[in-house]
Amino acid sequence: MHSIPKSPGVYVLVFYLSRKTAITFDRKGAQHKFLPGWYLYVGSACGPGGLDRRLARHKRQLVDGKRMHWNVDYFRERALLCEIWYSENADSDVEHQWAKALIELPGASVPAAKFGASDCRAKCPSHFFHVPERPSTAVFRKALATRICSIEVFVEFIKEPRRTKKAACGLQREYFDGRRFLEVRRRVAAESKSPLSEWCSLAKNCLARRLAEQIVKQTKTTFPKIKRAIQFATAVETLIESCGESVLPVLFDPVTPQSREAILSLSRTSDVRQRHRINGVIEGRFRSIAPQSDDTVFDTVKFGEVPSRLARARGSLEKLQHRVDVTCDCSLLAESKQLSRLSRLAATRLQNCLNGRVDVSTAVPGYLGKETVISILKSSNVQGRTVGMARLALRLIVKNLWDFEEMTHRGLLPTDNDMQAVECEVERIQRAARQIEQQGEIQNDLLRKEQSHVTAA
Ligand SMILES: [Zn+2]
Repeated sequence: MHSIPKSPGVYVLVFYLSRKTAITFDRKGAQHKFLPGWYLYVGSACGPGGLDRRLARHKRQLVDGKRMHWNVDYFRERALLCEIWYSENADSDVEHQWAKALIELPGASVPAAKFGASDCRAKCPSHFFHVPERPSTAVFRKALATRICSIEVFVEFIKEPRRTKKAACGLQREYFDGRRFLEVRRRVAAESKSPLSEWCSLAKNCLARRLAEQIVKQTKTTFPKIKRAIQFATAVETLIESCGESVLPVLFDPVTPQSREAILSLSRTSDVRQRHRINGVIEGRFRSIAPQSDDTVFDTVKFGEVPSRLARARGSLEKLQHRVDVTCDCSLLAESKQLSRLSRLAATRLQNCLNGRVDVSTAVPGYLGKETVISILKSSNVQGRTVGMARLALRLIVKNLWDFEEMTHRGLLPTDNDMQAVECEVERIQRAARQIEQQGEIQNDLLRKEQSHVTAA
């Protein structure tokens, strides 16, 4: 387990420098001052012994009898080698693609021109980069994916920098603790040629549990802590997968960091909503990435959400119906009646879409469009819990309709059970809504009679 392949490949050495350091990195004796932070050196190993021999060399130092040869050998003497990222690959072009992906990491800069790239024919500014915050392989993989090269990047952890009080906010630290597990798991699963899905459960005696327990021992933490960190890191990497390199600076912004709960809850929504919230924070439209009920973006991860939203809407309408039965507040009645009617129409429309009676592209008629419905939901002539139930029901039902086209596009289709559940809920929604609407009529009639009595008298 955990052996570096002897085949050719490309690699990144991840260094940490705790303070500003002057380093002479060649035999000519010119000094260069390096800022504190993280450094990434990309190289490739094509000679005999492949990655295994080259990386073993990088791990050794002068005291181990290493002869100084490359620029990076001098740097390695003064900085802490924390991680090695590598990928088996015989294509010599990959090294330069990696260099170009590294420069896209948040805050990346070139500390010394042409460092490690003196013989580079691909015009890379350097093969050596500085980033202010600890780099994440998930972000790097995302950058590689956009360049359409292999993202089978594995990590070997060498040494951890000593933790200082000021270093990173608590959540950032939690992410990197959890990320350690995710990276080790990725490597072990690949080495044992078993699918990642077999490594998900942290229940006793499962593969992932044993791995987590090893990490507990290595990092001197506790199992509940690492479990929490794994859950958190998984959420963060889901967001990176959807939104790319801008995620970490948003989540761990030192001035306005996001809360753990907001990060977890956003990670459970659709990629569209994730991008909507993250970009909204970047563009200054909102401060928190936490999903909001008035986000009207596509937000369905699986079809099962449709019947479950409908069930909540139906429950809400049924409760409303009982309240409307006993109320004699006319404006509340009128408002509830309008909202119930729209709910009923939206539910019927959804059913028609699912039965193929309405074309996908025309699923949402104007009167159920986002702007119309949002303005109805926001207009608060009547307030209070009762009418709140009606608003909730409408929002839950119409959401399915708004998402319908994109769901079809993504192939999120109902099973037979889903279809039955939807049909049943739609029927109950229609029944409850009709009764509310009729109740409105009865009350209106009474009111009209009352008024005619008054005028008659
Ligand atoms: Zn290059």
